[in-house]
Amino acid sequence: MAETYDAIILGAGHNGLILAGYLGKAGLKVLVLERKPVAGGGLSTLEDPRHPGFLHNAHAFFLRAITAMPWYRDLELERHGARLIEPELNVALLTRDGRALEWWTDFPRTYESFSRFSRRDADALRRWHDEFVPIVEGVLRPEAESPPLPPEQRRALLMRSAQGRRLLEVSAMSPLDFVQREFEHPTIQAGLLFFNGLREVDLRLRGFGHHIPALLASPAKAQMAQGGSAALARALEAAVHDAGGEIRTMSAPKRLLIENGRVVGVETGAREDIRARHLVASSLNPHQTFLELLDTAFLPPFLRDRAAAFAYNLVAPLFALNLILKEPPRYAAAAHHPELDRAFMVIMGLEHLDQFPEMIRHHEQGRVPPPVMWGACPTLFDTSQAPPGLHTAFMWEKAPYRLHGDAANWDMARDEHGRVLLRLWRSHAPNLEEAVIDSFTRSPLDVERSLPNMREGDLLVGGFDRGQVGYHRPFAGAGQYRTHLPGLYLCGASSHPGGNVTGLPGYNAAQVVLSDLGLGGDWMPPPLEARLGRL
Ligand SMILES: Cc1cc2nc3c(=O)[nH]c(=O)nc-3n(C[C@H](O)[C@H](O)[C@H](O)COP(=O)(O)OP(=O)(O)OC[C@H]3O[C@@H](n4cnc5c(N)ncnc54)[C@H](O)[C@@H]3O)c2cc1C
Repeated sequence: MAETYDAIILGAGHNGLILAGYLGKAGLKVLVLERKPVAGGGLSTLEDPRHPGFLHNAHAFFLRAITAMPWYRDLELERHGARLIEPELNVALLTRDGRALEWWTDFPRTYESFSRFSRRDADALRRWHDEFVPIVEGVLRPEAESPPLPPEQRRALLMRSAQGRRLLEVSAMSPLDFVQREFEHPTIQAGLLFFNGLREVDLRLRGFGHHIPALLASPAKAQMAQGGSAALARALEAAVHDAGGEIRTMSAPKRLLIENGRVVGVETGAREDIRARHLVASSLNPHQTFLELLDTAFLPPFLRDRAAAFAYNLVAPLFALNLILKEPPRYAAAAHHPELDRAFMVIMGLEHLDQFPEMIRHHEQGRVPPPVMWGACPTLFDTSQAPPGLHTAFMWEKAPYRLHGDAANWDMARDEHGRVLLRLWRSHAPNLEEAVIDSFTRSPLDVERSLPNMREGDLLVGGFDRGQVGYHRPFAGAGQYRTHLPGLYLCGASSHPGGNVTGLPGYNAAQVVLSDLGLGGDWMPPPLEARLGRL
């Protein structure tokens, strides 16, 4: 007898786990299949095998406003053990001449830091912040937390309100146009575009001019999980178990089972088929879901072409240098800015706007650009991530996946490149000369090896260009989390609103799946049409 569940979810990253939590709470019998020995996907914390007690967050670390996410509340993650820390000096950009541009959780302190660089830019920051706070709350946040609307309907609804019209007007620019038009100081321009780059939107793309004012106005700040990022995954797992769900690790589907044109389960190869009464939801990328798991007989050629054409971000892959330390990095700039001893995200190597086009050119040619890097010393804020008195720290850098034309070149080049980053780091924090006990690096190829859904090392699991946004993410005909096949849904970062640890693809997929099953739930937000229509 085949095992039978109500729902099978492919991939136990945070999006798959969030969907599982909601379906379980709605009374469905849920199974999550995960190819790795441990659930969590990008929420991964590894103990250093050479140095027991030192924890490294191998993928996601800066978790944006998790405590404000609806699923954090609905799935009661604090009851399940999650604790988030939000350091006050949230981000500091260090310049070569020893200055620091600072973003604080407290807006007036950010204003003060900006005004030390340019009073005019600080005023622009305040103006855009104040103007976009209601746009973020009234439009952008509801849009991110709902299944997306068809573009024409969205536009018509936005045109009916002043906030909506303003959003469309600012969006029409590219992030680069926006920054060049509104800000004057090179460090501030570069810093603002860095945040755009973190979202991985190509800074030249028109249609994304609102990204920077939205980030300025967002109450969402960077947080970290106490105990390491995997601690958030453990809380999600506990929520799934609490709702009666099951997570099966070391288990990858071989093929989707289809009967009478409907997806009814999966073959895993190892055991009997596993059947799903209602649905299979995939948090994998479109290449895996449509081209690897689906028999071609069930994929019309035009959809096959769209899935095959799904594109990954050129400038998203990351190179990481991880250190274990006798003491935390002590930045020379702290002589004038003592607050830097408690800075959370620290950015180095970024001085002016021209570095961004240079970075893109290098990525296109498979070369590593001059280093621009950012990272943290987690143990400054959470001593549980290293033995007493000792520390871990890391730096990330955007690096091309195909190094000199071939990703395999990373295996030879990795350690030497780590030394390049360490040199830059030491130039800002001279105590690292003596403080480093050990180090290791991870390349974009290592990311893909660890999480094959992050194809080409793209940690966002798909670009935002070529129309791969909103209603058409991952592609037209598979937006809104539904696919062409009854019983098959999508719920991962390749769907709206995209990658990073937002949990919103999983949260939105839960709204769609439960509505299709007629199950609803009092946690569901009002329909987006109604919310935008009320503005
Ligand atoms: C180096 C790095 C740094 C990052 N830093 C940040 C950060 O600071 N902040 C942030 O918000 N985000 C960060 N990210 C991005 C973030 O980790 C991802 O965008 C996010 O994890 C995507 O969530 P997901 O649940 O959709 O997919 P994942 O977290 O990738 O989960 C997918 C799961 O599916 C599993 N899987 C894959 N293939 C199969 C298969 N065939 N069968 C079964 N299971 C399968 C995987 O093992 C994985 O567990 C980072 C990523 C990387 C690589």
